[in-house]
Amino acid sequence: MKLKFLGGAGTVTGSKYLISHNQQRVLVDCGLFQGVKKLRLQNWKSFPIDPKTINAVVLTHAHIDHSGYIPALRKTGFKGPVYCTRGTYDLCRILLPDSGFLQEEDARYANKKKFSRHSPAMPLYTEKEAIESLKLFKPIHYHESIEVANGIKARFTPVGHILGSSAIQITAGGKTITFSGDVGRSEDLVMRSPEPLNETDYLVVESTYGNRKHDETDPFEFLKNVVNKTMERGGIVLFPSFAVGRTQTILYILQVLKERNEIPDVPVFLNSPMAITATEIYCNHHKEHRLSADECTKIDKGTHFVRTPEESIELNKRKYPSIIISASGMASGGRVLHHLKTLLPNHRNSVVFVGFQAPGTRGDAMVNGAQQVKIHGAYHPVRAEVSHLDSLSAHGDYGEILEWLEHSKIAPRQVFVTHGEPAASDSMRLKLEEQFGWRVEVPDAGDEFEL
Ligand SMILES: [Zn+2]
Repeated sequence: MKLKFLGGAGTVTGSKYLISHNQQRVLVDCGLFQGVKKLRLQNWKSFPIDPKTINAVVLTHAHIDHSGYIPALRKTGFKGPVYCTRGTYDLCRILLPDSGFLQEEDARYANKKKFSRHSPAMPLYTEKEAIESLKLFKPIHYHESIEVANGIKARFTPVGHILGSSAIQITAGGKTITFSGDVGRSEDLVMRSPEPLNETDYLVVESTYGNRKHDETDPFEFLKNVVNKTMERGGIVLFPSFAVGRTQTILYILQVLKERNEIPDVPVFLNSPMAITATEIYCNHHKEHRLSADECTKIDKGTHFVRTPEESIELNKRKYPSIIISASGMASGGRVLHHLKTLLPNHRNSVVFVGFQAPGTRGDAMVNGAQQVKIHGAYHPVRAEVSHLDSLSAHGDYGEILEWLEHSKIAPRQVFVTHGEPAASDSMRLKLEEQFGWRVEVPDAGDEFEL
């Protein structure tokens, strides 16, 4: 069996790992590179091997940096099945078409501004092509061992990162290799803790937080304070939020705070069609996470779902105290921009960012104290109270991942650390060597290993 790192090595995005065995090829994850331009341009390079020769893709979870290249792979000749859990499939049904739509928007924008080197600028793939690629998906159950190519088997284990997320164990030629995927938290509010892994010969483990520990702010206390302060001022609380995962956590916390009478019973609006669908998908899969059917029903009853553009415009005119959750999470696009334009200039309001803010985004500027932000070509003063709740990450930090591996009681003969910035991956390598005495390597993109 051979393992080649095609992406997600030396960086956190673009996860793609190729397993070859007896002329069979299986790609583990098929993600888009995201972030700075140099990385994004990598999505446009021709794929290092002929996509026609890949027999199957196995997908750890639905995030675009793990799944977003599938439509492009199909477009260039891949015809095989994409195996993933049902939760991952359901989320890909909303995330991949949206990714295609955004690619088309970018191309339209580049054509309008004429800054593309190509004329006309083309999308990497369209919304329609993304929808087409969904036909390749074959949802499977957790813990079921399935033959994904001749002589290559795969088995999925829940790892609590987002709905459907899995570690994948591949078996071929009498050897096993396990890919951690993105690993969740030990004490997440919505997702259950990652399940221990089975014994494995080789391990590929993520290191997003390989050199950092999470902030331990209690999210209930934090949000209780922000909401109460804002309501006393007669203002509106706005959450720019990520549609999948984070939105459902915020809805749950607000529901609990209302039930405990710790915040007033003000209306909660969810203004993002994608976050609304993601919330429905989370509720349909309630057996796979900590929220019970009853809690899902309460969230459903306690939330006003804002679906149409007209309803969104209406919502933006309301002046009385309320809570609005709207995407995107870093205020880089989406309906939240309209709310920001209306709410930022007034000191009564609050804007609460609830996750990592990438450098260069409006969210990053605001949490770092920007006095004004540019939205739709004009500057808007930031007078609302801006705060940042950073303790709700969906990734385990190095302490949590080490603990999970300790519980797994495995003894791999070789470990590869991926999915991190170089300093984070190297720090994770040292910790694994020190704590377990394992042989650990941090591969570069393009590296290949005979297992
Ligand atoms: Zn992820």
